[in-house]
Amino acid sequence: MNEAPAKLKSRGVPVLLGIPQDHNSSFLRGAAQAPRLIREALHSDVWNSWTETRVDLGVAGMVEDMGDLANMESADAPERIEEAIEGILAAGKRPVSLGGDHSITYPILRAIGKHVPNLTIVHLDAHPDLYDNYGNNPHSHASPFARIMENKLAKRLVQIGVRTLNAHQQEQAKKFGVEIYEMSDLRDPTHLNLAGPIYISFDMDVLEPGMAPGVSHWEPGGMTTRQALHYIHTVPGPIVGADVVEFNPARDATGMTAMVAAKIVKEILGKMHSMRD
Ligand code: MN
Ligand code: MN
Repeated sequence: MNEAPAKLKSRGVPVLLGIPQDHNSSFLRGAAQAPRLIREALHSDVWNSWTETRVDLGVAGMVEDMGDLANMESADAPERIEEAIEGILAAGKRPVSLGGDHSITYPILRAIGKHVPNLTIVHLDAHPDLYDNYGNNPHSHASPFARIMENKLAKRLVQIGVRTLNAHQQEQAKKFGVEIYEMSDLRDPTHLNLAGPIYISFDMDVLEPGMAPGVSHWEPGGMTTRQALHYIHTVPGPIVGADVVEFNPARDATGMTAMVAAKIVKEILGKMHSMRD
């Protein structure tokens, strides 16, 4: 059995955690089926286990998998998500959560916020998810970043790829000091002046729906997979955690979105390991 070089473990092994929850989705259910399919794609023989950053995720000890949280429809699901993430962080490891709809990011950040001061969230999404209250559900997948910013769980929130900004969410962004880079104003990532610690929240609908149709909210005019990977590959470290959310297998007729989601997860894992700072 090969041992991973010590330096690759220095910031804690990434731990996959499936969070099969979609009842906070405002339009369509289905994202709860995603974690199993992302794992299946990750382990598929269609590709090898190396990332583009030259990390072999197939080496023993490079990635742990805690499986899926159970009973994510129950009222105490947010507390149990928070506890699970808390446990990963307390063990000196780094959570990579597989959603689920985007509402899971608030309980995840409640746990991260306790451990990581001065956090920058890099949030890729077609939507700002800043509604104060959407569909009479303050925990809707349209609201997690309002809850995160109200509770001061991050120093900076940088949103990239947004193309659905309305007046209310513009006001919310102003109120919370959110930095929004709309899809129509996509820049080179170096202009963002990012500094670690970084948390990546990746909503699959940031991508052009023609490339990744398995999402609930099709919003044409999105990023290519390559543009999204460029952001992931250029964020500075350390990456303290990440989530990949909103993959909806019910709309993924060809299975392509599962592969794209797995590719995003793979490159985030590789980037977590390849960081040298
Ligand atoms: Mn979202
Ligand atoms: Mn979205």
